[in-house]
Amino acid sequence: MKHSSKLASSFRIVGLAVALVSALPTFVAADDIISQIVARCPAQPRTYAQVTDYLRQLSGASSRVKLQVIGYSHRRRPLLLVTVTDPDSPAAQKMRLFIIARQHGNEPAGTTATLGLVEHFAHAPSALEQAVLKHLEIIAVPVANPDGAVAHQRRNAAGVDLNRDWQQASQPETQALQAAVYAYQPHAIMDLHELPAHSSRASYQQNFVETIGTNGQLPAPLSAYTGAISKNISLWMTRYSYGLNVFYDYPGDSLKLCHRYLGLYQGFPTFLCEVKPGAGRSLRYRAGFHILAAIVVANYLIHNPAAPRPAGPRVMQVAEAADKQTPVRQRLPQPVATGGPGQVQPITVALQTEPTTDSDGNQRMQIMTQVDGGSDFAFVTIAAGGVTRVLTNQRLYHYSLDLNMLPPGECPIVARAHDTSGRMVATQQLTLTVPTAGGTLGR
Ligand SMILES: [Zn+2]
Repeated sequence: MKHSSKLASSFRIVGLAVALVSALPTFVAADDIISQIVARCPAQPRTYAQVTDYLRQLSGASSRVKLQVIGYSHRRRPLLLVTVTDPDSPAAQKMRLFIIARQHGNEPAGTTATLGLVEHFAHAPSALEQAVLKHLEIIAVPVANPDGAVAHQRRNAAGVDLNRDWQQASQPETQALQAAVYAYQPHAIMDLHELPAHSSRASYQQNFVETIGTNGQLPAPLSAYTGAISKNISLWMTRYSYGLNVFYDYPGDSLKLCHRYLGLYQGFPTFLCEVKPGAGRSLRYRAGFHILAAIVVANYLIHNPAAPRPAGPRVMQVAEAADKQTPVRQRLPQPVATGGPGQVQPITVALQTEPTTDSDGNQRMQIMTQVDGGSDFAFVTIAAGGVTRVLTNQRLYHYSLDLNMLPPGECPIVARAHDTSGRMVATQQLTLTVPTAGGTLGR
């Protein structure tokens, strides 16, 4: 409960961010949008039957809400897709945010968050929400794994981890989800999860977001878009007292996972959101993490509209067999400016490294960053070998670098401190010597 008052006050800030939408001048009145959504979330997860009943009730009660069946699970339970938008506003002027929740049946926070968002915008209680819905369509699959949700298990009824099935698309659930994503051509995709308490990797023991990184192999506009959004998420999470690491995906990472397949391979801006359960973190607190992330992404989309595209046919099709040779497709018409160099501030950055071996026997380098000074300091990014690996607002601003990811030889490690506008304000570099297999670490 100690989180609730802090959340209630800090959630007001996101409302103010939404208020900055220049085309939508009336937003200040609704400056507590997120606390409203969180407060109306149930304290305990709804059952699958309650979720479907509730969605049907919402779609019956609001012309903004449409419900459709996009497929069926192994046990023939319907896969429900819900949309919320202003039906009278032209589709061409809307940004489309596609939310996938609960691929893992035992992770209810994403479902709770999604229903909270849908309910809130279905009622559209103020001019803020009404104006937002003229520019935004929320498309959501609140329960991507109905059989797993009913059985309280991670996998689907066939025993398959759906979030490892995106490249193969062997399951009816993943096939239906892919067809829906391709039909809607969203401007951003979020995949909502809860990080298991027993997570083995140190990096995964805290809340995190994973998205497309920046390097020469990835389309620059896509990287610019996901990079700017990830900074926005980090800044807002910091203000709302959520610790967060952002990890970046690069070609060569496994494409079995939803956000990587749709991001690295299909070229959509994707965001995996993992909130940490346990330690007394309530369902509302965990759902609040996802709600906050979704509102920040939606807010960014509205502020940074890509050139309008035709709405396109919305005919569901069976997912096409993936052509493994197709390069990442570029779906974002415009790169987004992420700000120039920041003002000079008395911030210093110190870097430390420590070699370790993880439980899988991989050689790793623990990279710790110490930041001193600067009241405006917000977060650190750490780059290895020229690409950013993590963005973190959590001391010790740490990253566990898998040395197998790097070629042997000299490798620059760069830590950069950023201010609350996302601008880089201080930097520090050192050089690691990455050994050949079996060699000794140096720097
Ligand atoms: Zn999960």
